Amino acid sequence: MALIVQKYGGTSVGTVERIEAVAKKIKARRDAGDAVVVVVSAMSGETNRLVELAKAVQERPDPREFDVLVSTGEQITIALLSMALKEIGCPACSYTGSQVHILTDNAHNKARIKEVDGARVRADLNQGKVVVVAGFQGVDEHGNITTLGRGGSDTTAVALAAALSADECQIYTDVDGVYTTDPRVVPEARRLEQITFEEMLEMASLGSKVLQIRAVELAGKFNVPLRVLSSFEEGEGTLISIEDDSMEQALISGIAFNRDEAKLTILGVPDQPGIANQILGPVADANIEVDMIVQNIAEDTTTDFTFTIHRNDYAHALEIMQKTSAALGAREVSGDDKIVKVSLVGVGMRSHAGIASTMFSTLAQEGINIRMISTSEIKISVVMDEKYLELAVRALHSAFDLEES
Ligand code: ADP
Ligand code: ASP
Ligand code: MG
Repeated sequence: MALIVQKYGGTSVGTVERIEAVAKKIKARRDAGDAVVVVVSAMSGETNRLVELAKAVQERPDPREFDVLVSTGEQITIALLSMALKEIGCPACSYTGSQVHILTDNAHNKARIKEVDGARVRADLNQGKVVVVAGFQGVDEHGNITTLGRGGSDTTAVALAAALSADECQIYTDVDGVYTTDPRVVPEARRLEQITFEEMLEMASLGSKVLQIRAVELAGKFNVPLRVLSSFEEGEGTLISIEDDSMEQALISGIAFNRDEAKLTILGVPDQPGIANQILGPVADANIEVDMIVQNIAEDTTTDFTFTIHRNDYAHALEIMQKTSAALGAREVSGDDKIVKVSLVGVGMRSHAGIASTMFSTLAQEGINIRMISTSEIKISVVMDEKYLELAVRALHSAFDLEES
């Protein structure tokens, strides 16, 4: 007998018919003798609807009340799925995050899980029940409802799998695994049989939203075997593991991209010690996360300083930069919120030169201007105008022969 945690995303439980189909799948697994814990997302579109409702009332919704609101989507699904299971003769019980003590910090809207108490879940499993838990939500030490950030149900599933020492955590979604890039952008993209935690973490943090970053991080930390599968068709999916034991390690595992980028440049700032902190300090104080940072070499006594942020933070960051610019006596502030980031990811890069040059020449052939570059051991990221995104991803996918296995 195995203990399996399964997570079903929004599209997988998007209608009553889908919920019934998922219930059958779960029952089959339980009837085969396995203990099954199920984590579900809100029905597709529901979380977006709730977010819009909040914004219609408050432009910047109160974080605590926002969590009370958006966490309700998952509560609908746990109830409906448990009913569907019982309807077909499968004992089941639904729980919200707080009922199974998914304890988080108090960072509303992006809370981190601190502890999961598996006792209640275990007790139900011992009675042969399927346990259905609401994803994306938790509770802080004062009993306030918290949420884990968009895509957070993945993280709930991994945290439960870790707490229960599950044999596998299965993420059921609308694609049959992790692909070399988003198959919606490149139809020729290829499913990967395996990918390492390290690579998946890079892919997720560089924009591949097939798994939430935190879920991959937790799975890596607690060594939870993680598999991405389709809830619509049978298949092996993609296993995310410590080592990739395939015979030949690919140079590049995948291409990730992020459409939510914006950049700001402060031109002609005095080049002196402390300047980076004077520019970025107020941005950090406003809780705005900075991604890439580039400072030019000073030609005279001034320099230009550029950084990228999430597009949602653009207006706020621009306001801050204008104040900073006046305070520092800089020449001007310029910005662009129509940029994207495209990244190549692969552990094979460690031992191979020439990947960057192939990347740059491919983009040059397509007439794509690179605005910023950043590299690490296992990734190369470039920033470009958003109109080039699809072209760039397709050209790189083919230049690195990613469609071939
Ligand atoms: P769910 O609602 O099940 O959590 P998501 O929409 O969060 O599903 O994630 C699945 C989607 O992720 C796919 O439909 C696909 O478009 C997108 N995606 C982005 N990058 C990749 C990738 N490299 N491999 C597979 N899917 C990807
Ligand atoms: N329902 C939440 C969202 O749409 C959490 C999730 O689906 O993982 O982001
Ligand atoms: Mg998701």
